[in-house]
Formats: sequence, C-alpha cells, structure tokens
Amino acid sequence: MSDAGAPAPAPPAIRAADAVRKKLARIGLHSEADLLVHLPLRYEDETQITRIIDAPWGVPVQVEVVVQASEIQYQPRRQMIVKAKDSTGTITLRFFSFYPSHQATLAIGKRVRAFGEVRSGFFGAEMMHPRFVAVAQGDPLPSGLTPVYPTTAGVSSNTLRKLITAALADGDLSDTLDDALRQRLKLPGLARSVHFLHAPTVGTAVEALHARNHPAWRRVKFDEVLAQQMCLRRAYLARRQQGAPALIAADDLGARLVDRLPFALTGAQRRAMDEIAGNLSQPYPMQRLLQGDVGAGKTIVAALAACQAISAGWQVAFMAPTEILAEQHYLKLKSWLEPLGVRVAWLTGSLKTAARRVQLAATAAEAQLVVGTHALIQEGVDFAKLGLAIVDEQHRFGVAQRLALHNKGANPHQLMMSATPIPRTLAMSYYADLDVTVLDELPPGRTPIKTRLVADNRRADVVAFVAQHIAEGRQVYWVCPLIEESEALQLQTAQDTYQQLSGDLPALRVGLVHGRLKASEKQTVMAAFAAGDIDLLVATTVIEVGVDVPNASLMVIEHAERFGLSQLHQLRGRVGRGAHESSCILIFAGPLSESARLRLKIIFENTDGFEIARQDLKLRGPGEFVGIRQSGVPLLRYVDLELDADLVDMAREVAEEMLTQLPEQAERHLKRWLGSREELLKS
Ligand code: ADP
Ligand code: MG
Repeated sequence: MSDAGAPAPAPPAIRAADAVRKKLARIGLHSEADLLVHLPLRYEDETQITRIIDAPWGVPVQVEVVVQASEIQYQPRRQMIVKAKDSTGTITLRFFSFYPSHQATLAIGKRVRAFGEVRSGFFGAEMMHPRFVAVAQGDPLPSGLTPVYPTTAGVSSNTLRKLITAALADGDLSDTLDDALRQRLKLPGLARSVHFLHAPTVGTAVEALHARNHPAWRRVKFDEVLAQQMCLRRAYLARRQQGAPALIAADDLGARLVDRLPFALTGAQRRAMDEIAGNLSQPYPMQRLLQGDVGAGKTIVAALAACQAISAGWQVAFMAPTEILAEQHYLKLKSWLEPLGVRVAWLTGSLKTAARRVQLAATAAEAQLVVGTHALIQEGVDFAKLGLAIVDEQHRFGVAQRLALHNKGANPHQLMMSATPIPRTLAMSYYADLDVTVLDELPPGRTPIKTRLVADNRRADVVAFVAQHIAEGRQVYWVCPLIEESEALQLQTAQDTYQQLSGDLPALRVGLVHGRLKASEKQTVMAAFAAGDIDLLVATTVIEVGVDVPNASLMVIEHAERFGLSQLHQLRGRVGRGAHESSCILIFAGPLSESARLRLKIIFENTDGFEIARQDLKLRGPGEFVGIRQSGVPLLRYVDLELDADLVDMAREVAEEMLTQLPEQAERHLKRWLGSREELLKS
C-alpha cells in the first residue's frame, strides 16, 4: 500500500540491553510484539525433583544438587566437569561448551537444579549438557511445564523466557478474528491460546503440545498462515488495480495454429487455454502460473496465448533462462507461427552487435513475438507495444528479472511457466499472489520411462547398453556429475567423460555440451543432436531444463546420488518425449548418505512430478524448497504444509474476506505477524 503521510511509529523495542537486542534481532525478534508470538519448541516438566538414587536412565529428569567439585579438563578434549550431590547420591555434570557464567553458577557450594537425561558415565550417574538454574534451598518449584524457546548464541533460554514473560504481562494480544468468525472456524481466542502455549497448565499432555495439534497451536498457526495469505493477496489485488489492455483476438490466428499442429490438444491444455484466454480478455493484468510436469506440453499453451495477444494487435515477449532453451523455443515458435504470417524476432546476449541492432529495431517496431534470454530485459531493448510477457522456467529467474520484463510494457499480462511441480499445499501457500493452472495430463501415447539404478562398478554394462540403444536408431544423453565446489572441475569431468566414451564407442558420433562453450558452439551441438547427427550427447546440467529432442530415449546420469530430486526428475524428463520406450539409468557410487539413498529410492519409485515434489517437500521442508520462489514471501515458522493443509485452505478464504471487509483488522493482523518484516515484503 502506498499511503502518503508520516510513517507508522516503530513498534516498542525489546526491553533488554543493546547487546541482547542485537543478538535477538538475528532470529527475527525485534519488538516486544515479536516476543509474544515467539513460541516454545518444546516443554519440559520441571515441576518435580527426582532424587539421584531414583533417577531412571535415559529419561529427562530434574535433580537439585549442591556442587562439590568443578574443574576444566583439556584431555581428551576441553570440557568442564562438575561433581554434585543430593542427599541420596552423586552425579557428574559434563559440558563440552561453556561460558565463564557457567563456572560462576556452578562454583563449589552452589545449589542448582539441573535438568537432563541421566546416563551411566565413567563416574556413575552423569548428565551431559544439562540445563540448570541456581536456586536457594526451599525455592518453590514451577507450577506448570517449562517452555523451551528457540534461541540464539549468547542468549540463554532462561533469559529469553524472562523477556517473554515480561512481554506477556502487558503485551497486546487483542484478537483480530471476531467471535463469529472464530466460531465458524472452531478456533479458540488468541490471547488465551498464546498464554497457554507459553505456560501450559499442569496436567496438559505434553504429546499434544509437541505434536502441535492442540487447539491453541491450531489457532496460532491459522493466524500465521492468514497473515501470509493476506500479504500475498494484497500484492495481487494491488497489481490488479493497475489495469492492463484487454486482449481481444481480432482474427482466428489461434485456431489456425491449432489446425496446423500434428497433434490434438489434450483436455488439460484446452482447459488451461480457456483460463488464460479469459484472463487476457479482461482489462486487468493476468498473473498466472502454468504448472505442468515435464513434457506436459506447456509451450503450445504459451504459443496460443501469444496468438491471442498478437491477434489483438499487441507484442509478446517470451523469455527463457538458457540460450539453448531460448533458441529451441525460437525455432519451434517460428516454425509454428511464421507460416501464419507472424513476425518472430530473436534476442540473446550472444548476438553480434550488427545482428543485435537489427533485432533491437525489430523489437521496437514490427516484431510481434520476441523470444530470448534475459537479454530481453536489458537496457536498450524497447518494445513498441508489449501486451503479454511469458516467462518459461520462471523459478530460474529472480523477482527483479521478472519485474524488469514486466516493466518493458505498460503493465502487460504475465504468464509464468514452471516444470518444477509444486505440491498443491505449497503452491496455495507460497504462490497465493498468482492464479495457478495445472496441466495434469500428459499428451497421449507416451510410454512411461523405465528407471534403473546401477552401481558404478557396472559402468561397462551401461556403455554396452548405450551402444545397443544407438544401434536401434535412438539417441542418448549422458549427464556428468554435478560438482558443486568447482565449475572448472565439473568441466574437466565432462571433457574426460567425453574422451573416454568416444574411445569406448569409436563407431558412434559423440558430442559434448557444457556451460563454458560459446553460445554459438552450444547451438551448433544442440542443433546437430536435434537433427540426429550426434548419437550420444555428453552434457553437464546445461540440458536440465526444457530441451526437447523426441528421438532421444535413453538418459544416463552419473553420480546420480549428487543430484537433487527435482533435478533428477527434470533430467529424466528429457526422454520419454517420443513414441519409443525410454529409459533412465542412474549410476551411483557408494557409500550413500541416508538422504542420498532416500532420494534415489523416491526417483526410482515415482514418475509423477507432483508426487516427487511432495516427497521432496517432506524431505527438505519448505525453507529449502521455497528457494524456488526467490523470497518476497513470508516464511511460515509454525505451519506444516502437509499436516495443516486444512488451515491453509481456511486462511485463503478468510484472507480475501478480511482484506475487503475489515481492512483495519487486517492491517493489525499483518502488523502482529509480520511486524518489521512487512516493509521488506512490500518492496
Ligand atoms: P513442457 O511442458 O515440458 O514444456 P513441451 O511443451 O516441450 O513440454 O512439450 C513436450 C513435447 O510434447 C513436445 O515435443 C510437444 O510438441 C509435444 N506435445 C505437446 N502437446 C502435445 C499433444 N497434445 N499431443 C502430442 N504431443 C504434444
Ligand atoms: Mg518447457
């Protein structure tokens, strides 16, 4: 929102020393209000003291002891060893990391309560890294469960607990959901829920709290995801208000393209096209994400959208993340559209100055469709009348790049495409500022890809299989390992593999493509592969996205254990595009880490990109996953997208309702949950 006038006063800062404040800021705690909704990770039961003699091993208990001896040892590693006793026995408290304050609290003669698991150590009962507090004899025990907060180095859980308790005493927890709404959603009040989570009443089953499905947890989770939904929804509505040209087709260009296609559109493609066509003919900008598994046929849908814009007298920009992909799109779109009289131009960074000038002039003037890489968004590229911006593999671009393309026109419609399937819950949550269309149907006649896992000591068998495959007239990709530490090393490996395979298979035409080749060299190799003049293409991950050569039906991936799930899925999706049976061989080298083993198992067992994405989400959590979204979206701290899918659904509905009907309440809600981060999110 762009209200003029004085900025809102900063919310009250945390009442603590500057040094503590700085540390808390590192974990997103800036204000007193932030403290209120900084909720416990877990709880411990410190309402009782266990006698050392009674302490069961392996279960967290609390003992109250007096320190007998305390020393720091340096062998075999630095540690602080504290001997302490109660009236029934002695116990050793062992710390591998400690501060001077530890030594002061645990000096000889001091009385402390220590909380942790008791184990059998060298000297008998022992606690490793117990939490502890100094007490005087007869100090009362806490009456409720003790919350354990996520904290940061240098701020103890105790300190944080005190700050939070103080904040709760006078903090504003007035409800932003009114009674009627709360009843409809069957959620408890906010103040009650928050107080409860910070200090659960005695007798509460810790399990329900830890599983986070207690009604109090559901309430705060709902609030959190509601704030996220409102934040994104507001951005969506604001963009919509700006208005855009209504693109009403003036002729039957799209229908003529469909007539010329060698295939019939799938039902999903037609449904997607209808949704897009509806958006484009409205006087406000489309903001649509077209999702579809690899090979679902997104390009033709984009081409039909382009037809509508062109037919309405506007220009279309089509941006792809790599030169290989951009050129492939250019060639395909040209072959589809030029015969229909559409003027298609091509713009990438690698064009020579003179050629570039020609294309730039075309862009500015007569071109109707301009295809290219991010060269499209550079300065000096001017569109006469940009009405639709299409971004392929949108997750490869940053927010700024997408915005730059958008700014090449007077608020053009936007179609974003992604072949990285996003699980439904994640899409609903993190992409709430976009309309989403899913192509949930593959073109007919595709035979499923067979996936095999092969240990690297059987590489010779794989080479033989490749030779046999090519003898049958097919083509093969051979992808070299990803080497994250060094691009140079990755290049070296690709070159070595190329040499080796050329030696092993002298009768075959082997090609090599990698990121360091000049764009024109890359194009030559890819064109030769597409034309069938190369049998075996050794490649780095430059071929990961979009490349479409239907006669290629075998994909070999070396060191598959080093790749991420979505990458493996993308790479595998390069085959299975023609009528021939396709396979993917994943060569792996042991020993495998647990997560590598899981990834290989998932990719082996699944072909559906959405299912793979769902499992990936479970494996890695949304934090990593949402990297695909390039920030700008409030992360969820408490909501679990799998577990709390119903809350996300509810929040979506309520967000729109609240923004339009109760704007003041909506603002308060956003302030509470996004606090100082909200400013960031608006930019
Ligand atoms: P992606 O969704 O991965 O971008 P593409 O648009 O590259 O997929 O399409 C994959 C292949 O499927 C292309 O060769 C394309 O021409 C072909 N294709 C697209 N739609 C259909 C269809 N309805 N029937 C048959 N083949 C199709
Ligand atoms: Mg594609």
